Amino acid sequence: MKDETICLHSGYTPGNTEPRVIPIVQSTTYTYDSAEEIGSVFDEPTKSLIYSRFANPTVMAVEAKIAELEGGIAAMCTSSGQAATLLAILNICNAGDSFVSAAQVYGGSINLFSYTFKRFGIECIFVDTNASEDEIRAAFKPNTKLVFGEMLANPALTVFDIEKFAKIAREKNVPLIVDNTFPTPILCKPFDFGADIIVHSTSKYMDGHALQVGGVIVDSGNFDWNSGCFPEITGPDMSYHGIVYTEVYGKAAYIVKARMQLMRDFGVYPSAHSAFLLNLGLETLALRMQRYCENGQVVAEFFKASDKVASVNYPGLKSDKYHALAQKYLKGSSGVVTFALKGGKAAAVKFLDSLEMASNAIHVADIRTCVLHPATTTHRQLTEDKMLAAGVDPGMIRFSVGLEHIDDILADIKHALACV
Ligand code: PLP
Repeated sequence: MKDETICLHSGYTPGNTEPRVIPIVQSTTYTYDSAEEIGSVFDEPTKSLIYSRFANPTVMAVEAKIAELEGGIAAMCTSSGQAATLLAILNICNAGDSFVSAAQVYGGSINLFSYTFKRFGIECIFVDTNASEDEIRAAFKPNTKLVFGEMLANPALTVFDIEKFAKIAREKNVPLIVDNTFPTPILCKPFDFGADIIVHSTSKYMDGHALQVGGVIVDSGNFDWNSGCFPEITGPDMSYHGIVYTEVYGKAAYIVKARMQLMRDFGVYPSAHSAFLLNLGLETLALRMQRYCENGQVVAEFFKASDKVASVNYPGLKSDKYHALAQKYLKGSSGVVTFALKGGKAAAVKFLDSLEMASNAIHVADIRTCVLHPATTTHRQLTEDKMLAAGVDPGMIRFSVGLEHIDDILADIKHALACV
C-alpha cells in the first residue's frame, strides 16, 4: 500500500459486523478464564494482553500503522515524544556509557542529553551537524553506544546528513537513532538511508490537531546487536526470568525489550483515548503534509523577499544552506519556517504581538498557524553558547504554517510586519 492508503487502512481491519473505526478499548486490564492461563502470560508477555501500562489494543493498532508507514518491524507508543527519546536511548545506554548526538536537535533533547542523562552517568558528546566524517569519528569513545540526530531540526531547520552519520555508526558497530518528527514518514523514510531506530513526537504533525501529547519508537529490525557491546539486549535479563531478547525475539529484540523491561518499569504508555485521537490525525497525515509544504514554501519565499527580514531558514528555498540535503532526503520541507527580523529580538516581539490570526503557542506543526520566539521560551534554559550551537539565534521566530488559506496567512504576516 502507498502512504495515503496505509494512513487510512493499516493497523485495524474490521471483521464482519465489527466497528468501521478503531474501537477505544478503555480498560486497564484483561480477564482470563483460569489462574494457570494468566500466570503463563508472565512467561511469554507478548503472547497476550496483561495490563495497559505496556500494551493496549487501541494503542497497538496505531503502533502497527506507524511501523508500516516508517517501514519498520514494530513500534511502541509512549505518552510523549520526550519519553520516546528517553526510552530509545535508555534501552541501549547504561551508566558509564556515552553517545554521540548532532548539536542541532530539539531543545528538550538538549536538556535531557546535557543534564539529566549526566545525572544518570550517561554522557552525550555533541558534534556539529556539519562536522566532517573525521570530526565525527573523533567524537567517539570506547564506551560510545549510539548516534543520535534529528532529521529536520526543531527549530534550527538543519537537515541531518543521515548517510554521513549512518556510515560512521556502521563502522563503529553502533545503531543510529533518528528523530523524524518534522518530516514524518510522509516526507522522509530514515530507514531507507541507514537509520536503525526512529523516534517521533506524535504531538506534532502526526496528531496535527493539538489534541494529545505522544511519542513513538520504531525499530527497523536491521541492527545486529551481537557484537558483544550490547549485553542488555544479548545477555540474560534477570528482571524477566533471564530472558535473552535476541534469542527469543530475533530482529525485534530491541523493541520487545523496550516494552517488556522499560515500559514495564517507567510506565509511560499512552491511554487508549489518546491513541484513538492520534489515529484520527494519522488518517489525513499524507494529505496534510502536502498542504503544509505548499503553504510553508510560499511563506518562506515571502519572508525571503521582505526587506524587513534579515534571514530565513527553510530547506525548500534554493538559497538555503540545507537545500541540497533536503532534495536528497526529503519530499518536502514541512510547514515550519524560521526567520529573523532586522530589528532583532525587539522587532520579533512586536511582530509576534501584532499577529491577529496566528497564535503564540509552544506547540508547533499544528493544523492552525502558530508562532514562537524560541530564545525566550523553549530554549530559555539554555546558555547562549548552547542556544547558538543548537542553531537558535536570539532574534529567531519560529513560524509554523497551518492549513488556513494561504491568502489569510499572508495577510496576517503583512499586517504584523507593517507594525514592526
Ligand atoms: N522531538 C522533537 C523534534 C520535538 O519538536 C519535540 C517537541 O517539541 C519532542 C521531540 C518532544 O516531544 P513532546 O513534546 O511530545 O514530549
